[in-house]
Amino acid sequence: MIMKHKGILIVVSGFSGAGKGTLMKQMVRSYENYALSISMTTRDPRPGEAEGREYFFVSKEVFEDRISKDGLVEYASYCGNYYGTPREYVERQLERGKDVILEIEIQGALKVKNKFPTAVLMFVMPPSAAELKRRLEGRGTESQEVIDRRLKRACEEAEGIEQYDYIVINDELEECVKEMHSLIQAAHYAPLRNKEFIEKMKNELRALQKETAIK
Ligand code: 5GP
Repeated sequence: MIMKHKGILIVVSGFSGAGKGTLMKQMVRSYENYALSISMTTRDPRPGEAEGREYFFVSKEVFEDRISKDGLVEYASYCGNYYGTPREYVERQLERGKDVILEIEIQGALKVKNKFPTAVLMFVMPPSAAELKRRLEGRGTESQEVIDRRLKRACEEAEGIEQYDYIVINDELEECVKEMHSLIQAAHYAPLRNKEFIEKMKNELRALQKETAIK
């Protein structure tokens, strides 16, 4: 049994159309210990998206004001818009012991890894590139130009996959949710994420050793 206090940051990236959104919603539904961070963006809402559910939709001015007040854990520019992670929610949930999921693109993911070395970085992929194109087109909410831009971006993002800790193939939703959960559970047991516990054990052992005759 490992003493668990604070939660860890789970960074999930993946090509646009890989099904991350659905996957993340299912993760929070299936398991109690996850909190999903809601990002702030300057892009327009898609049909069916609600303010404060998928995103906080704001103007460029509001976003830049938030940056200047250090109110974001990270932010990045993606296909012409700003996207960022509000700090307060993330910090509060981590304090409560929740594992906080950030569904963000690669530049943001790498910034988080730099700032928080214990973050777990996961990359979600569809089973094939053809399936990715099919999913993007099937969504029916974006113009061909936007789809093409996102496919191009996927090509660029693929170059950074090796910097992630794990890849997850999103073929069958339930299967994928279980896999992600197991990987996160395992990550909790890495020495890197249990420094306090290990230090405590070492100190206790040293103290015990002082009481013994063998030096
Ligand atoms: P979409 O416009 O399809 O909702 O999102 C576009 C990209 O922005 C996705 O790859 C998504 O993961 C990423 N994204 C969403 N929120 C954030 C955020 O807060 N920070 C960063 N860096 N990327 C984000």
